[in-house]
Amino acid sequence: MKLNEVPTQATEVKTDVKLAEAARGNSTRAVHGGAKRRKAFNALNTPIVQTATYTFGDTQELIDYMERKTWGDGEDREEYGRYGNPTVSAVERKLAALDSGEDAVLYASGMAAVTSLLLSVLPTGAHIIMTDDCYRRTRQFALTFLKRLGIETSVVPMGDYAAMEAAIIPKKTRFLISESPTNPYLRIADLQAIADLGKRHKVLTMIDSTFATPVNQRPLEWGIDFVIHSATKYLSGHNDLLAGVVVGKADRIKALRDARGVLGAIVDPQNAYLLDRGIKTLGVRVEQQNRTALEVARFLESHPAIERVWYPGLESHPDHEIACQQMGGFGGVVTFEVRGDLKSTSEFIDRLKIPYIAPSLGGVESLIEQPALMSYYEKTTEERLALGMKDNLVRFAIGIEDTTDILDDLDQALC
Ligand SMILES: *Cc1c(COP(=O)(O)O)cnc(C)c1O
Repeated sequence: MKLNEVPTQATEVKTDVKLAEAARGNSTRAVHGGAKRRKAFNALNTPIVQTATYTFGDTQELIDYMERKTWGDGEDREEYGRYGNPTVSAVERKLAALDSGEDAVLYASGMAAVTSLLLSVLPTGAHIIMTDDCYRRTRQFALTFLKRLGIETSVVPMGDYAAMEAAIIPKKTRFLISESPTNPYLRIADLQAIADLGKRHKVLTMIDSTFATPVNQRPLEWGIDFVIHSATKYLSGHNDLLAGVVVGKADRIKALRDARGVLGAIVDPQNAYLLDRGIKTLGVRVEQQNRTALEVARFLESHPAIERVWYPGLESHPDHEIACQQMGGFGGVVTFEVRGDLKSTSEFIDRLKIPYIAPSLGGVESLIEQPALMSYYEKTTEERLALGMKDNLVRFAIGIEDTTDILDDLDQALC
């Protein structure tokens, strides 16, 4: 239904449920968000509906479906697996509840969410604006794939809202895209400022909120149009699946779901189930990760072997103030520079016993990486410096191990 339609009795009831849900805490939403009390077969858990297609009893049922008459229970039945799946829908409702959105659409990966959103919304000849400290593949998609389709991208410095406004081309700019916190410097976007710019110039806004999770930050509540997450990270939380989500207003998400049926990047029901299961513990996991990360950041900042620490919970971080206003916690990633060069930084990483060396973040296991050797391996030291990545930079994505064990491990490795 369109947002400006007069609500029927049924949707009024639904809205009441949504309002009640919006008043609930993070963990209650993570466990119960969007869930029907009574599920198929009286199962407590959402069943995995492992099917590629759906059947019709007879031709009349098919015709009724095509005429949209058989929407009993306010619930849409499905026609074919690429258009929807009940296990997937259950997770979508939960993600909408978590991010205070009207609806959500789930994809096979975070990048599928980003690319499907942009491909679905942008016309040829459009222009978009993106902040510079941005997920590398998102920027690559805009600067190569979208460019090929005649869509131009302006990249503006993170935190410079005057530059963002100046980059807006009337009638051409369609999207303001940012991330918060960013990778790897954990810069925080001023959500209110971006939402206001979007409204003033009639430009859509999107925030990649992967590093924050809905536990720490809910951009829709600040007036942002679309929130995306790589659900591969904190939402699933166990480093065992890839998924992505877009959350926003009901009519816009419905249009994205229709487009997903064409673009094809729906998540499969097994992964949707695992994601649903992972999300149930999101609140407790993220609270633990917030707590440990703040202690780790403080410990590192006071350690003589560390040159610099970036963590939005530290007063030394350039965006500390805005982080305090917008966020319930500062997240589980800590970025820092070890006093030393490429080799001595690697040696420090190799002395650590708890974190695995791996890209990604947000799971129960701590992961650590030296961006110079992971995302920027093919570049020289000088080229990396030009991109703002020093050889001694380390990104530590904290898991749910005990805080004291992580601190002890860092202490023994920083000799
Ligand atoms: C990982 C990540 C993505 C991409 O998500 P995938 O699930 O790996 O496709 C996008 N944005 C951010 C901030 C990420 O960390």
